[in-house]
Amino acid sequence: MNTPRATRRLTLALAAAVVLSFTGAACSSDNGNSGGGGSENKKITIGIKFDQPGIGLKTPSGAYTGFDVDVATYVAKQLGYSPKDIEWKEAKSADRETLLQRGDVDYIVASYSITPKRQEKVDFAGPYLLAHQDVLLRANDNSITKPSDLNNKKLCSVTGSTSAQNVKTKIAPKAQLQEYGGYSECLTGLENGVVDALTTDDSILAGYAAQPQFKGKFKLAGFKLSNENYGIGVQKGDTELKDKINKALEKMVADGSWQAAVNKNFGPAGYKNEPAPKIGVVVT
Ligand code: GLU
Repeated sequence: MNTPRATRRLTLALAAAVVLSFTGAACSSDNGNSGGGGSENKKITIGIKFDQPGIGLKTPSGAYTGFDVDVATYVAKQLGYSPKDIEWKEAKSADRETLLQRGDVDYIVASYSITPKRQEKVDFAGPYLLAHQDVLLRANDNSITKPSDLNNKKLCSVTGSTSAQNVKTKIAPKAQLQEYGGYSECLTGLENGVVDALTTDDSILAGYAAQPQFKGKFKLAGFKLSNENYGIGVQKGDTELKDKINKALEKMVADGSWQAAVNKNFGPAGYKNEPAPKIGVVVT
């Protein structure tokens, strides 16, 4: 074909631009973390809690255990990643939205309640568990028998959590709220008397109370202070990944793996969980 020179040059320039933009795209997703599955050496990075026994825990030997870990691992498998492809990253309550927005993690399974405020910044698959906010007390404390008794008490919770927010706006606005980075820090405070109570989801508190070293030391108040619908956080707008995760969660419930993970992780703590939520249905 007799292509004029100018056109040929333009074609070459366009071809070069296409090659460059492809290279650029390859660089920006060089860890292959798009959640799709596929090639060799692929990795997926998942945000979890590191200090919540029964939910998300990094053990001293470096193993990861808990209901969130099992859910995250099952979902990863459905996306084409085996356990050895998973890189676990700590996702503290206050850091979760930022981790997703920056692309530091592919998804987050970290006792992460679906809320309208968070949905302004991230999207959620699920819910995959319904928990309720409760209060953990020292076993010998008889001064807190109803939520309003928390007013003027030293109450511990975690920065960036719904638990801390609910205290301030609804449960006990006059409580002396201390906000730490993680619930395990609150637990130490509760044990040594620095705080009077610790508030967060019953699913988390049950796990702490059941630790052998705390046997007989703590009790759950049994207040159902809220509905916490645990979702799997993904980057805002990543509908493809969200839909894939929802399919995986539906399968996890249908094939009995969800119940098995409940029994394994909540059984030892005696946590009475709610039945599996319906995907897409948030209980308010
Ligand atoms: N589920 C609540 C939340 O997402 C409390 C537990 C937590 O901080 O992870 O804030």
